[in-house]
Amino acid sequence: MVPPQTSPRAKQRRGEGQWALGYREPLNPNERSKKDDNPLNVRARIENIYAHGGFDSIDPADLRGRFRWYGLYTQRKPGIDGGRTATLEPEELDDEYFMMRVRSDGGALTTHQLKVLGEISQTYARDTADITDRQNIQYHWIRIEDVPTIWQRLEAVGLTTMEACGDSPRVILGSPVAGISEDEVVDGQPAIDTILERYIGDPRFSNLPRKFKTAISGLQDVAHEIHDVAFVGVHHPEHGPGFDLWVGGGLSTNPMLGKRLGAWVPLDEVPDVWEAVISVFRDYGYRRLRHRARIKFLVADWGPEKFRQVVEDEYLKRKMIDGPAPEVLDQQLDHIGVHKQKDGLHYVGAAPVAGRVSGSILVEVAKAAERAGSRRVRFTPQQKIIVLDVAEAEVPALKSDLAKLGLQVDPSPWRRGIMACTGIEFCKLAIVETKARALDLVTQLEANLKDIVDGVTAPITVHINGCPNSCARIQTADIGLKGQIVTDDQGNQVEGFQVHLGGGLGLDAGFGRKLRGHKVTADELPEYVERVVRNFVAQRETDERFAQ
Ligand code: SF4
Repeated sequence: MVPPQTSPRAKQRRGEGQWALGYREPLNPNERSKKDDNPLNVRARIENIYAHGGFDSIDPADLRGRFRWYGLYTQRKPGIDGGRTATLEPEELDDEYFMMRVRSDGGALTTHQLKVLGEISQTYARDTADITDRQNIQYHWIRIEDVPTIWQRLEAVGLTTMEACGDSPRVILGSPVAGISEDEVVDGQPAIDTILERYIGDPRFSNLPRKFKTAISGLQDVAHEIHDVAFVGVHHPEHGPGFDLWVGGGLSTNPMLGKRLGAWVPLDEVPDVWEAVISVFRDYGYRRLRHRARIKFLVADWGPEKFRQVVEDEYLKRKMIDGPAPEVLDQQLDHIGVHKQKDGLHYVGAAPVAGRVSGSILVEVAKAAERAGSRRVRFTPQQKIIVLDVAEAEVPALKSDLAKLGLQVDPSPWRRGIMACTGIEFCKLAIVETKARALDLVTQLEANLKDIVDGVTAPITVHINGCPNSCARIQTADIGLKGQIVTDDQGNQVEGFQVHLGGGLGLDAGFGRKLRGHKVTADELPEYVERVVRNFVAQRETDERFAQ
């Protein structure tokens, strides 16, 4: 019999680069770079050296590594087709311009902040702005020379790009209707605010094995099942409202649903428990192989019981309270439309196509919201925008103002359910175009499916990714489309998609079935989706969801 300590699996575990097991020497170049210099230090070099010396003065280790800790990625050089993505060196794909992400945790912004975000885009980002599915704004065409000024303008209104990307605690998802919803168990925004204040920019948590995504919501509206850590609103029969703790969810090429730890966390203890979970990840997370470095692999190996025990014994130094699972919802909340708030005012959710807006649109939305008496907006995890605190009498004018900006409050199911990642327009990993494809798809479905639109009672979600990563969460969509090069009828290599069908969150949480060998070319896509939707509507039973 092979002794356990010499089995191949045990050997592999010993070599996973876990700090808590004594592996402090970097086992790959990413770990080396983070150890050589804390990535947060790159800000000073951007301000003092690179912004003056220009793109060519940037150290490659900063350019392709540490810049991410401030929300900066180089964007893709225009004109390189997707078939060449995997064959070129990083420097051949790098443009001299940057994508920049700005944190807006919980998607929460004042109208003044929204206006400033828009104006920065108009001045420095060629009027680009995409609402991402992490409830923040992503700019394109940013020059390194302008970055310090952009930071100054953001920070003057309380915004930052710190740890918007990188192996760090990324932007925290929160309910877009936190504090105003009639249905939420508890308002999670105070916990988000405390985590930001205490831990973002804290060097103790700026060198994680990989990215760390958090979701906190008193409603089930933030895709909690696919987060590294999530706090989900639940009523405890004895202790009242609080949160159910989940860990280890994530998508990309090894998708896994998060696991409940069976612990109930009151609102004021969320930041401490969050610190304990992220500390376990920092200390025990796998650092040898990048593709195994997310917390989901540790949770899968340990199981929820051991994970909870380590959180309690080594970090919290106390036991957590056992708690019930939240009731599972049979609908996915996207907050589109006009809804009553608990204070009697209304919130108005509107749909751009796949999050694509512009700086000018953001400025005009801020003005329209203010005309309607609002001072608050929120972005949603579905790439949508909500105006809060609107008196009933102001709703019609606001709807009309938003519609003029291309933001529909009563969108078709296709406009409402579509999401798309950045894609080949700007992303260096992309193989296919996504945003323009999404707009084209919505336009064609709206024109061709008029006859069945009344029969579609719930949104049908279509998510489009430009590569095998899952920035647009394709595995959780009714129709998930993963960009790749496919062969068309004439034998040509063209842009297309691998199809996943029937994914979902909530009641039917599960990943869409990858239809092996089932690929469509980009040109065939509208017709294909139309066919799938028609078949579904014709065959479904009353109120059946796509995933059932
Ligand atoms: Fe880029 Fe791929 Fe993510 Fe799309 S899914 S943004 S193409 S890495």
